Amino acid sequence: MDLRASFGLDEPVDVDALTTALTTALDGRWGALCRGVRAQMAAAVVRDNSDLTTEQYRQRVFDDLHLLAKTGPARLGFDPEFGGMGDPAASVVAHEMLGLGDLSLMVKAGVQWGLFGGAVQLLGTRRHHERYLRDIMDLQLTGCFAMTETGHGSDVQHLRTTAAYDPATAEFVIDTPDPAARKDYIGNAARDGRMAVVFAQLIVDGRSRGVHALLVPIRDGDGNPMPGVSIEDCGRKGGLNGVDNGRLSFRDVRVPREALLNRFGDVGEDGRYSSPIESDGRRFFTMIGTLIRGRISVAGTAGSATKRALAIAVGYSNTRRQFERPGGQGEVVLLDYQAHQRKLLPALATSYALSFAQHELVGGLGELSGEGPRDERQQRELESRAAGIKAVATWHATATIQACREACGGAGYLAENLLTTLKADTDVFTTFEGDNTVLLQLVAKGLLTNYQSQVGDLGTLATARFIAEQFAGTFIERTAARSVIERLLAAGPGRDDETVLFDRAWQIRAFEDREKHMLDGLARRLRRAAGSAGDRGESGAFAIFNDAQDHLLRTARVHIDRVVLEAFVAAVERCPSPATRALLSRVCDLYGLASIEGDLAWFLAHGRLTAVRAKSVTGAVNALCGLLRPQAQALVDAFAIPRPYLGAKILVGAGS
Ligand SMILES: Cc1cc2nc3c(=O)[nH]c(=O)nc-3n(C[C@H](O)[C@H](O)[C@H](O)COP(=O)(O)OP(=O)(O)OC[C@H]3O[C@@H](n4cnc5c(N)ncnc54)[C@H](O)[C@@H]3O)c2cc1C
Repeated sequence: MDLRASFGLDEPVDVDALTTALTTALDGRWGALCRGVRAQMAAAVVRDNSDLTTEQYRQRVFDDLHLLAKTGPARLGFDPEFGGMGDPAASVVAHEMLGLGDLSLMVKAGVQWGLFGGAVQLLGTRRHHERYLRDIMDLQLTGCFAMTETGHGSDVQHLRTTAAYDPATAEFVIDTPDPAARKDYIGNAARDGRMAVVFAQLIVDGRSRGVHALLVPIRDGDGNPMPGVSIEDCGRKGGLNGVDNGRLSFRDVRVPREALLNRFGDVGEDGRYSSPIESDGRRFFTMIGTLIRGRISVAGTAGSATKRALAIAVGYSNTRRQFERPGGQGEVVLLDYQAHQRKLLPALATSYALSFAQHELVGGLGELSGEGPRDERQQRELESRAAGIKAVATWHATATIQACREACGGAGYLAENLLTTLKADTDVFTTFEGDNTVLLQLVAKGLLTNYQSQVGDLGTLATARFIAEQFAGTFIERTAARSVIERLLAAGPGRDDETVLFDRAWQIRAFEDREKHMLDGLARRLRRAAGSAGDRGESGAFAIFNDAQDHLLRTARVHIDRVVLEAFVAAVERCPSPATRALLSRVCDLYGLASIEGDLAWFLAHGRLTAVRAKSVTGAVNALCGLLRPQAQALVDAFAIPRPYLGAKILVGAGS
């Protein structure tokens, strides 16, 4: 089949117009904001940090943070009544743009305004907003988000720091009861933070009320630790060395009653505890769920860093030549090799897919952050999607940046070509803001329990029973692209020859069918196991879930893959220009078919593809790589990465 002709890609195109149209599609509804931030970034002087000492690098990042504080984006996410701009979705998009630059600066900004400021805004109430928000935006008050402990990272519910209420003085007493309860890895703690949002088990009247957050000063005006606060430096890390991560321990540290961030639980003047949410478990999950902005931001910034790596690798591969082409036609450009196209182009297609999915997620955040009553189920679904997209986007970043490094050969290993720094700095994205494996488990549990909020209260056995009783078969919940997808599915697939692989309805059905099969199978498996292991109580239930962990994780993964595909399909359908739509449509094919190819074993083992069709999937991926090769440069140029951030020496001619 002549793909080029049949997909309308053989018409002459105005590359600049095409690139601009692709950028417009990628920016989506945040076009004006993205252009504004890009213009600011284009004027920036980008300096090389690779030879700085840790202290010099931290100082440089802190200085840059002060410059950033003077710009609009630092205020975007905060309440307008206190000097903010009241647009959390826009703040996440602006933060995503920061991911195109120095990632230490991006993380430092994320800690200050996203995690620390975000916790004050979202977990605190008016008394905290009035007192602190302006200073946080202006960087008069620098802070930390102190959740993780040495002993407990993923299992936040079982943190061991305590905050016991003393009615005699109307104060909370913060303590680190044992070394494992020490706060660990905390950004801004080792050098610059003056205050910390400390997550601790709240004890009132001798009774534990679960994890709550309190504002605790950690340094005085001269930068010395406050009495009772011990601070250690985590020292040099595998990357992100412009961020000062540290450890915090507390001994009899007293803070006033008002230091409790009291949106979800409070201690009144009478010393009594009260909360709008009765159950400790539900309160905890509601509180944690409120903080999803950070997770969404990590997914977005992982996407930005990946785009930067792809822009470097594709740009280089378009000029670098190796080995003579027979017939005296000169040396072959790397990107003309199929193996090289395979290395970069499916990853490029996935970056497009994740970019569209990310913006749909951010759109959902914007909608749910508005005024008015919150729809609990929608909120939980958004949290689950944020967890899943964060996991997939950060794993994609890690794999793709490595592939880009290899695609640039030895040059890719030189610091001057930026890829090694990108690799080191993004590595931990798979761990912080929630370990990816743990996040995918949350996604699967959400699917199995239909995002019911009462599940937060249930132990493992009760959860297994809940699933056994309530799961009534998979219902594919559509994303924002619902009407588009329904229309496409109603229209196809009409053919059953080799072209069916390029039929959008066939692709969507393949993803959907896999998800449905895996989820139904998982529910059946848990139901069977719950029946037989019920008498063994919690340990029996633990064994059920533990034995099914592989299935659970795969189910979550294929669910997110389907959500991402739908976001891409919707973006293609939205695109107003026929030439751009034709190109995006082929990129979408490449994303979908490369993903199916990566999971061929499942499709074959479950009789979803014949051996012949499975081989034709590989053929189609090869064909799409060849087809898209001439547009690869336009596809990365459309990321519109400001010039100063593409300063890799290999992009300025040294490699050819
Ligand atoms: C550079 C950096 C900056 C950070 N900044 C902050 C910060 O500012 N504030 C803050 O509070 N924290 C911060 N953290 C901490 C971070 O959020 C935690 O490291 C993260 O939540 C994971 O916790 P952990 O390190 O204890 O890993 P663990 O939870 O011990 O996980 C270790 C491994 O065990 C696996 N695992 C755990 N539980 C399960 C399970 N149930 N099933 C299967 N596998 C499981 C995980 O997949 C992982 O592979 C930072 C960490 C780093 C490295």
